[in-house]
Amino acid sequence: MSVTAALTSHLKDPSLITDALAALPESSAQFEVFDPATGALLATLPDMGAAGAQAAVDRASQAQGAWAGETAGARSRILRRWYELILAHADDLAAILTAEMGKPLAESASEVAHAAAYVEWYAEEAKRIYGETFPAPGNDRRMLVIKQPVGVTGTITPWNFPASMVARKVSPALAVGCTTVLKPAEQTPLVALALHALARQAGFPDGVFNLVLSSQGEPVGRVLCAHPKVRKISFTGSTEVGRHLMRQCADQIKKMSLELGGHAPFIVFADADLDAAVDGAIQAKFRNGGQTCVSANRLFVEAPVYDAFVERFAEATRRLKVGNGFDAGTAIGPLIDRAAFEKVSAHVDEALADGARLMTGGGRIGESGTLYAPTVLSEVTASMRVAREETFGPVAPILRFEDPAEVVSMANDTEYGLAAYFYATELKKVWRVAEALDYGMVGINTGRMSSEAAPFGGVKQSGMGREGSRHGAEEYLDMKYLCMGNI
Ligand code: NAD
Repeated sequence: MSVTAALTSHLKDPSLITDALAALPESSAQFEVFDPATGALLATLPDMGAAGAQAAVDRASQAQGAWAGETAGARSRILRRWYELILAHADDLAAILTAEMGKPLAESASEVAHAAAYVEWYAEEAKRIYGETFPAPGNDRRMLVIKQPVGVTGTITPWNFPASMVARKVSPALAVGCTTVLKPAEQTPLVALALHALARQAGFPDGVFNLVLSSQGEPVGRVLCAHPKVRKISFTGSTEVGRHLMRQCADQIKKMSLELGGHAPFIVFADADLDAAVDGAIQAKFRNGGQTCVSANRLFVEAPVYDAFVERFAEATRRLKVGNGFDAGTAIGPLIDRAAFEKVSAHVDEALADGARLMTGGGRIGESGTLYAPTVLSEVTASMRVAREETFGPVAPILRFEDPAEVVSMANDTEYGLAAYFYATELKKVWRVAEALDYGMVGINTGRMSSEAAPFGGVKQSGMGREGSRHGAEEYLDMKYLCMGNI
């Protein structure tokens, strides 16, 4: 087990990661982590697999009772210390994130700040777990509801937001008195390893927050879903894996939070502020190189402003610098791996063959590697694959619509229902469209809406449950009704 200079050369304090590594159990099986921008080896880690997951669940089960019995104030104080340690190591956490995931360093810094904000939020929320009392039908009884932690939880996170997904799931679980077993994505385990080490330093007792590093999700997922002590699974990733986990959890009827794929529409009505819409679309489309579940995947623009929007949006896209996330000014880093690159290329090539018009981009940058040029396609139609499937890359397909009434049904014509965006100014339209969009989140005149203060999540095949805000804490609580008779 080791980390290489390709990683530590970016860090002010390499002991953050080397100490964390030294504390991991020895393992004969190992896996490697690479920088997607350069292909350089960053680390060799223990592959803990199913046996590691089993041992972690055992530790979590042993710790669960005492942790649930801790005062809310004590849990809050440890979370607060974790938050402060994340801030103190923010630069190194951001550098680790860019090294293993590829996103521009400024975006990594903002993700780490976002992760810290979740931990701070739930340090406060720990103290606000309220029950209810309500009038009983007869005066000889009293009725109330108390909230209790669900117990041991399993947390599975993806590679695209490897720091904030950990914080968004683990901090509410720990805040309300659950223990957890975290399995981060195999492509990006290093920032999770560092966050876990900082949590240990903050003072979470043994067994409360357990990390399982694994080269594959399946063996760990199987243990978490099958173990009777695990009462809830929280997963962010693809709809396909979400469905698989749900089937596995069916035998024991476990609670689940699933944050799955998205296929966000971004609608520009003719009465929109066009410059603001272009800015919003650039953010909603190209943040994280388009590798986000809330990425604007289908841009619908009303006919009278279509040409003007396409021209300004393509112009703004041409200014985005693509390259290594550590280089100053980089707006878009590499795609996570070759499979992602092939998928993006196929979607674009097929759209062009089907009659879409290439306004900018449309291919690899450099001789090899996975840098894909930010791409704008106009004259896209709803039947093209790029408009039907989640591309998960820096590709903006722009469709034209004539009738404001028809665009909502075009936008809703997908199995997904995570995020939608639209730009308009007429008040009545704003309200009606916001209500009619079949999505868990709607951005109105904004291209960015994630916040620790707001409930993040989707409907339809984008999943179930919400993360962030007080609603995110509720997902880790069971409701117990108490009826006191003979009063
Ligand atoms: P993925 O589903 O392949 O992997 C996500 C995680 O699940 C990883 O940790 C992986 O190891 C694990 N995993 C894979 N197979 C598993 C199995 N059989 N059992 C248990 N765990 C398993 O997804 P990905 O390709 O890493 O991420 C991209 C997808 O995630 C996109 O579809 C995107 O829209 C979605 N996503 C959704 C949100 C959201 O909040 N809704 C956020 C980010 C990403």
